[in-house]
Amino acid sequence: MSNKSIKKLDAEKLYDNAIVSIQLGIEDFKLSQTSERDGGNPSRALSSVRNLYAGLLLLFKYGIASKVKTEEMAYELIHDHATSALPYPDGKGGVIWKPSGKFKTSTIDVGKIKERFDSFEINADWTAIAKIQECRNHLEHLHPRNTLGELAEFVADLFPVLSDFIINELEKIPQTVLGSAWEIMLQHKNFYTQKLDECEKSWGDAYVPTGMAEFFKECSCPKCGSKLLKAFSENLDAGETVVDDDDKFKYVCVACGDIELIAPLIMAKFEREFFHWPPDGEEPKNECCLQCDRNTFIISEQACRWCEAELEYNECVICEESLTQDDQWNGGLCSYHNYMASKDD
Ligand SMILES: [Zn+2]
Ligand SMILES: [Zn+2]
Ligand SMILES: [Zn+2]
Repeated sequence: MSNKSIKKLDAEKLYDNAIVSIQLGIEDFKLSQTSERDGGNPSRALSSVRNLYAGLLLLFKYGIASKVKTEEMAYELIHDHATSALPYPDGKGGVIWKPSGKFKTSTIDVGKIKERFDSFEINADWTAIAKIQECRNHLEHLHPRNTLGELAEFVADLFPVLSDFIINELEKIPQTVLGSAWEIMLQHKNFYTQKLDECEKSWGDAYVPTGMAEFFKECSCPKCGSKLLKAFSENLDAGETVVDDDDKFKYVCVACGDIELIAPLIMAKFEREFFHWPPDGEEPKNECCLQCDRNTFIISEQACRWCEAELEYNECVICEESLTQDDQWNGGLCSYHNYMASKDD
């Protein structure tokens, strides 16, 4: 404690900062989700996500710092060390290794936090944290108004991560630690989960093509980023389905009220997955389906993701060469053997 040149870290101060940051983040969150008419401020979305994310990382760092006995050790643990060293001649035929570049004084990033967690056996759901981190980076680049729906998902995803960490690793009671911010998060998480459930159920009779389900799951409202998309009741009442009425079937965004066609959202995700870039010599991965006329026929699968059309003839009956959609009119022959057969006539 007497040596002034040694850097120290007050873990309790770190903890206090973490809690304040999360509380501010939740205050901003509440304001951002309330309309301006009701005293809210949608433009607070970005500061909400920044504060919440910063608060989470601070709390993680506190978790690491609290594992050691002294403030010196705590400082060392949550700061980055010079990662590489360069050799210098010592003038006597020997070598001295000196750290290269400037000494970094920054605190550790998410990657390093994970390393410390692993070595100190601190548990966290890193899959969920990766999603939270990705969402935070994504929101940085958008206009706040386009992020309100996505922020709602961010807070819902953050809740269990924070909750587990506070209970299991810090061995504290979240309600006591975060006060009213906790109640707001809990209510929001419950609300969000309930809405997500309602949305999922609403598509039960809408028949999204099975082969497109993985892309449908990724869809979010282009206007606000929310994943809370519900099947439009008018389409359901009319007995329409996504698979047959993709030019009519709409979604309603529960978060912002936007009503638009669902198929273009699904197709956009599909096209991103099966994108090919000819200048790099890439071959197309999909082609137009001759049954349903959509670009959803996957070449490697020789089947259509939308209408489930498959080939009637998979290989040439004579030479066993694989057949494509274009060979289906030759009665099970490849183009060569079809040509040979027609010559014999
Ligand atoms: Zn929306
Ligand atoms: Zn098809
Ligand atoms: Zn053949």
